[in-house]
Amino acid sequence: MRVVVGGGTGFVGRALTQLLRSRGHQVTHVSRQGGEDRITWEELSHSGLPPCDAVVNLAGENVLNPFRRWGDAFCREVISSRVETTKALAEAIAAAEQPPRAWVLVTGVGFYRPSPTAEYTEDSPGGDFDFFSRLVSSWEAAALIPGSPTRGVVVRPGVVLGRDGGAIAQMLLPFRLGLGGPMGSGLQPFPWIHIQDLSGIVCHALEKESVQGILNGVAPSSPGTSNGTFARELAAALGRPALLPVPAWAVRAVFGAERAVMLLEGQRVLPKRTLESGYSFIFPELPAALRDIVA
Ligand code: NDP
Repeated sequence: MRVVVGGGTGFVGRALTQLLRSRGHQVTHVSRQGGEDRITWEELSHSGLPPCDAVVNLAGENVLNPFRRWGDAFCREVISSRVETTKALAEAIAAAEQPPRAWVLVTGVGFYRPSPTAEYTEDSPGGDFDFFSRLVSSWEAAALIPGSPTRGVVVRPGVVLGRDGGAIAQMLLPFRLGLGGPMGSGLQPFPWIHIQDLSGIVCHALEKESVQGILNGVAPSSPGTSNGTFARELAAALGRPALLPVPAWAVRAVFGAERAVMLLEGQRVLPKRTLESGYSFIFPELPAALRDIVA
């Protein structure tokens, strides 16, 4: 299969590209910069999609970049880097002479309202209560192609755990030094997925013709994981006993109040449709996922 991946150069994109190539698929990235096996977003808008069988979008400015101050300009970039790239790919699919068979967008569990108790499946409502939920709604709306023969799938992942990027990359140093710990109360749910499973779900969605619609990208045991459990398990995987809680005010001071919600609150999300679609998780449990990452 020839797969075009927007934002394929990033943390998730590198893992997905490796998996797709290992399964014999050809991958072309859409990037802000040209290069081997890449086209730029400008080339996409001028010349349309290269001949392909499937399209994925992973592009997006890193929301938790601690070096970027949370403000209007950054918010606009967070939105446009997701919504405009998704729109560009959807328009290119709609205009393609030979439409691809599958179109997979990766968004986030920020769609669901943070709650310590509520459990969400793909059928639960959301998408209309804060910055992130509205972002996911407009991002997913940008992917819609009315009347298209192309099969559409949206994967909503929790925090992606992997060796060379994402949240863990920022946490490893303090935890290795014994200076890591739960954020805020530590009681908030911590929805998570191992990067191999997120890549696996996207690949499954591309390859299996019956998969369509929303799939939650979280581990099956994720609804039982709190931020405190995660911190304890990460410390254990690293063989570090110390657990210093990070107070909520410090998280807000670094990330800004609106963005700190992502860390200080969380959702209990179940991958109901993902499991029903026949996906089998490689890392359903947190201890093994973390051992694999920090080994
Ligand atoms: P990355 O931060 O690694 O970024 C992915 C790619 O997006 C980059 O390689 C870059 O490609 C492109 N990009 C970055 N900034 C911009 C911008 N301002 N405009 C256009 N393109 C940009 O993301 P991840 O791989 O971690 O995540 C992939 C997707 O999954 C994202 O949409 C993210 O929101 C979502 N997600 C990720 C989670 C995680 O824990 N990592 C959790 C939940 C959802 P290039 O430089 O080649 O243009």
